[in-house]
Amino acid sequence: MSSKVPAPGRERADFIREIIAEDLRSGRHKTVVTRFPPEPNGYLHIGHAKSICLNFGVAREFGGRCHLRFDDTNPTKEEQEYIDAIKADVHWLGFDWGEHLYHASDYFERLYEWAIHLIKAGKAYVDDLSADEIREHRGTLTEPGKESPWRLRSIEENLDLFQRMRRGEFPDGARVLRAKIDMTSGNINLRDPVLYRILHASHPRTGNAWCVYPTYDFAHGQSDAIEGITHSICTLEFEDHRPLYDWFIENLPVPSRPRQYEFARLNLSYTVLSKRFLLRLVSEGRVRGWDDPRMPTISGIRRRGYPAEAIRDFAAMIGVGKRDGVVDVAMLEHRVRDVLNRKARRGFAVLRPLKVVIENYPEGRAEELDAVNNPEDPTAGTRKVRFTRELYIEREDFMEDPPKRFYRLAPGREVRLRYAYLVTCREAVKDAAGEVVELRCSYDPATRGGDAPDGRRPKATLHWISAAYTVPAEVRLYEHLFTRPDPGAEGDLLADLNPQSEEVIGGGLIEPGLASVPMGETVQFERLGYFCPDPDSKPGRPVFNRTLTLKDTWVRLQARGRHDE
Ligand code: ATP
Ligand code: MG
Repeated sequence: MSSKVPAPGRERADFIREIIAEDLRSGRHKTVVTRFPPEPNGYLHIGHAKSICLNFGVAREFGGRCHLRFDDTNPTKEEQEYIDAIKADVHWLGFDWGEHLYHASDYFERLYEWAIHLIKAGKAYVDDLSADEIREHRGTLTEPGKESPWRLRSIEENLDLFQRMRRGEFPDGARVLRAKIDMTSGNINLRDPVLYRILHASHPRTGNAWCVYPTYDFAHGQSDAIEGITHSICTLEFEDHRPLYDWFIENLPVPSRPRQYEFARLNLSYTVLSKRFLLRLVSEGRVRGWDDPRMPTISGIRRRGYPAEAIRDFAAMIGVGKRDGVVDVAMLEHRVRDVLNRKARRGFAVLRPLKVVIENYPEGRAEELDAVNNPEDPTAGTRKVRFTRELYIEREDFMEDPPKRFYRLAPGREVRLRYAYLVTCREAVKDAAGEVVELRCSYDPATRGGDAPDGRRPKATLHWISAAYTVPAEVRLYEHLFTRPDPGAEGDLLADLNPQSEEVIGGGLIEPGLASVPMGETVQFERLGYFCPDPDSKPGRPVFNRTLTLKDTWVRLQARGRHDE
């Protein structure tokens, strides 16, 4: 049989891609249909991004399609806000479901009919045990479960009770519908799993039409079958659910036979990927919201200034495997720096300004000097920066009494001001408290552009800003949200929160051109790192977030041979 399977792109072949390629080659499937099935009970995080890149990625590579399906079976925790955020996040990552937007709730009627089908086949029953009793009857990994006394109800009684459950005749928790499989099964998921529970709750999409809702297990595989999903890809914790997934498919008149495959979820150092915990950080006000730049959510990452391309690169780099592990967050940061180094335009900003007066430079003069926008990209061109008698440099670039390896500015020392001149510090002016408040310097007019005709080369080049041509800015510096690589390892996640994960600097200065950087673009403040405008910006008062510093710890770790990937 001729094969039309497109060659995989730069993604490495992994076991999922191999299975799909083989299924297409053998003719088992004509096309590949995957789905990304979030529950809209929170914002998506970087772990979900791995799943999105996998599901949408393989569909794209093999010429199939990927559905976005909201797994909205638990109305008490789900909200429209989350649905909207999830859609925006998938689009931002660069993927599109086209016409194929679905909701498990679209299938409530069909799922209900299938529950009736199981009852009529003697394969489901209404159980009056309480949730606690059901748990007690379930047994453990080493002990078999016990059958419920209600397990032998007649089909007629089950039908009657289940219909009355739907009509709202019973309060929450009074009864459930369970599959009748095997209370002694070695797989606990097969010990008569719950299919429906009573919940008198309004649903974001179906309103008050229902007061019984299907469980995840009952809804998920059947939704896959309804949509003609060929490869239902999920994380390893569902491996033990697969026999149940298959049991439903075998025992129901479903229109197609999807198969479930499991891969290892993403875990990242210094990061917690659990919607429940992230929700807690938001609701307790420990962060600025779901999109706080320190959050591992896709919206947080976006607000932090990480490019979507870097997330996709990261997903490709970590690959898809079967073994759980923890990925070093430095690897993600490495991908971000890699993209930004190539693409981010450069500019000058001074976070903690120290005034410099060039005593031999005429007052009132403003000279335009050429600055390179991106040394990695000649097409980005140049811009003009203005040099004047009064400037600002970074406070930490001056030391009155420099230690041995400090090459930056100090009394009597000459440094280069980037793109401008060589300047020499003549005097440090102090206030009454003894703090340096101003530097009196001189410049060498023969060094315009930064090179001396006599070839002398200062050891340091500093960034600077004209005092006359600058815009004040608030700058927010971010560090990891947790102090340790394995947050919660000692039992308390909150105790591991990094109290220094955000530092707000009120008195920053940026070069005027940076004040108009559009939202969504990340730039490099030379020598300081990558920064992006924050939505909190106001006209005339920009706010910038530090995306990352310039130093790449991943490269250092690799050089030390600690990581081989
Ligand atoms: P959380 O564990 O953060 O609460 P979840 O698994 O409950 O997330 P869902 O909305 O059910 O969130 O997940 C949607 C899809 O994303 C599922 O297919 C799930 O397997 C996948 N997914 C969730 N977390 C990760 C992760 N860390 N790595 C890879 N895939 C993930
Ligand atoms: Mg889940």
